[in-house]
Amino acid sequence: MRSPMWLARRRAPPPTPERAAPVVTTTNDEERRTMSRRTLIAGNWKMNGSAAAVDAFASAVAADAGSTDADLLVCVPFVYIERMARGLADTGVALGAQNLADVGEPGAYTGEVNGAMLRESGCTHVIVGHSERRAMYGETDSVVAAKLEAAVAAGLVPVVCVGETLVEREADRAEAVLSAQVDSLFEQCRPESLARMVLAYEPVWAIGTGRSASPEQAQAIHAFLRGRIAEQDATLANSMQLLYGGSVKPDNAAALFAGADVDGALVGGASLKADSFLDIARAAQ
Ligand code: PEP
Repeated sequence: MRSPMWLARRRAPPPTPERAAPVVTTTNDEERRTMSRRTLIAGNWKMNGSAAAVDAFASAVAADAGSTDADLLVCVPFVYIERMARGLADTGVALGAQNLADVGEPGAYTGEVNGAMLRESGCTHVIVGHSERRAMYGETDSVVAAKLEAAVAAGLVPVVCVGETLVEREADRAEAVLSAQVDSLFEQCRPESLARMVLAYEPVWAIGTGRSASPEQAQAIHAFLRGRIAEQDATLANSMQLLYGGSVKPDNAAALFAGADVDGALVGGASLKADSFLDIARAAQ
């Protein structure tokens, strides 16, 4: 049932890009990183928080957001988006949702929230294809691709998550699983939409477990992902921000960020408190 609607949407004219493509003039890893990709620290509150928690977080972050050079983003439950937007007004901290409908047009989709609604509420970003949504809510690669397109059509930056399970890693299938997830985006999404996305590598075994990937594991997979994208589009591979997610904490952040292909983090538990969120951001110097 989704396919015909989705195919129709894919033929819609592309949205106006809001970010200029960076100019890349070097092949040196460190120069490339500083010239073309900013560091992004994104918080994912999942189904956590309260009005009081939003207010406490926003006032603490507003007071201290200037203590990091990294770009900051916090993705909260739908019902707290406007409250967080008010609290973070004029701080430069971006706001995101954790999901959106795979259809853009308003209509009879009970319980869904579309990209235009998120934009109107103050979001600039939205998480797409988090492993919890893939595993618990049946989001397939096709749904993820549809949501990526819906986000871009609404003027949002999709933060698209990919990652392998522990079983897949232990069977030496991590790269195959990640390749399939990334290739599906290239097969189903328009190049101009892919140019707008941020990619988050989130090994499922590291999410919420306290067991982060090692800096070496994270960098190795990020380099692999960038190489995979380069097979399709070398310029895009250079410019795309690749975030690592999975038990990032203030005490392991700096080592993870040292990887040349690690452009920031998607942070769950440690983003719920302003102190740890900002400590992670300050580790990205
Ligand atoms: C996440 O929710 O995307 C995540 C990485 O969670 P945590 O940092 O708690 O592992």
